[in-house]
Amino acid sequence: MIDITDLTIESASNLLSKKQMKAEELAKLFLARAEVLNKKLNCFITLTPDIAIDQAKRVDDFIAQGQKLNDLAGIPIALKDLFSTKGIKTTAASKVLENYVPVYDATVVSKLKDANTIFIGKTNHDAWGHGGSGENSDFGPSVNPYDQKRVPGGSSSGSAAALAATTCIAATGTDTGGSSRLPAAFCNVVGLKPTYGRVSRYGVIAMASSLDSIGHMTKTVYDNAVVLNVTAGHDEFDATSSAEKVPDYTDGIGRGVSGLKIGLPKEYFEKLDAKIKKVILDAAKKLESLGAKVTEVDLPNTQYGVATYYIIQPSEVSSNLARYDGVRFGNFRDSFGSEAKRRIILGTFTLSSGYYDAYYLKAMKVRRLIREDYLKAFKNVDCLICPVSPTLPFKIGEKVDDPLAMYLADIYTVNANLAGIPALAVPCGFIDDLPVGMQIVGPDFSEKLLYQIGYAYEQETKWYQQKPKI
Ligand code: GLN
Repeated sequence: MIDITDLTIESASNLLSKKQMKAEELAKLFLARAEVLNKKLNCFITLTPDIAIDQAKRVDDFIAQGQKLNDLAGIPIALKDLFSTKGIKTTAASKVLENYVPVYDATVVSKLKDANTIFIGKTNHDAWGHGGSGENSDFGPSVNPYDQKRVPGGSSSGSAAALAATTCIAATGTDTGGSSRLPAAFCNVVGLKPTYGRVSRYGVIAMASSLDSIGHMTKTVYDNAVVLNVTAGHDEFDATSSAEKVPDYTDGIGRGVSGLKIGLPKEYFEKLDAKIKKVILDAAKKLESLGAKVTEVDLPNTQYGVATYYIIQPSEVSSNLARYDGVRFGNFRDSFGSEAKRRIILGTFTLSSGYYDAYYLKAMKVRRLIREDYLKAFKNVDCLICPVSPTLPFKIGEKVDDPLAMYLADIYTVNANLAGIPALAVPCGFIDDLPVGMQIVGPDFSEKLLYQIGYAYEQETKWYQQKPKI
């Protein structure tokens, strides 16, 4: 008897190709679990059982015909509800788009379709991606499977909760300021923020266009690389997507970390909670014991990250949300929730004449300095290791009335977005039975290296095997 909570993309794909299980059978197991657990976790806004069964039957036909399939064929996947899906409701978790059904697929969605993945449903998240806990969804908060009184992290809250609870084997996320990494860390899964432009943004509802990157979450590092192999690449529909060659991201896996130089940015540890600090430093020691060389590095402009992000991001949000005027898309503007309104007001202010130079332009200059800090650091080290979150998963309701406290949850994640560089969140332990994640941050287009390092660590520690009790 198969325990589906043990399955990874790698093992599920093996089962299917060796004909030990049909894709339809697998899809039904996941759909049944999603149906039941969604009642507890509120991780899906829409479940798509009919589509999943059709997709699975097609995979079974291909297998019966002896066709060679991609690693993702037959893999149950969940899509954040910011990804446009043709014929499937796409709400952005906002009442504004409550009944919106797109007429086209986001590029990532068509790539995942072409790879024959199975769509379990569309996941809940902070409306428009605005938030760090999932509580800003207009459809109610999602719940952390490791402790149902706590948040799963946001904004890709439903994707992380759905994955940790095994209602899918991979899930998409977006990451404008940490939205794939923070929920990954809070739910003990692997979350990627790729290099800006590595994955097409086309058809993903825009939050802040110069910061938005399209990520995903999986249970293991290897699986994460397999998904990026499918989603990465230039797209003629996204002018900011990169023409940089797409390597096989699983290539570095198994090569170990011997001789690699890892930097610990000291600014990320100065005020860090002592218990979290110990967990991250233990992870660095583990990598050292595997042959990496660990040194301290300086990123002197780190402290300006949150302030810079909370000027640039709302400015771009106010511009992107202007199209939801109740005429062309969706419901009237009074359907916007309070967090979206707050960001529209802030962004309109920072872009308005007389204030543009003082806020937006200045923030863009600081952004450049933050990127330069990283470029300088990467002259001496191959990657950096730091925490994902300054706190453990917090209680539902704990920060909802304090937007500033909520924004501070992003303190360790936003700088990678400002710099445009990739970062991988990897599970690195538990404190009081709650998951902790670390980030491995690298130079532009270093995702392959991040997987190499993440895998070496994961194989030594296997935190992903500690499942939630639900
Ligand atoms: N928590 C951050 C914010 O609220 C990041 C959101 C995101 O990455 N979409 O802006």
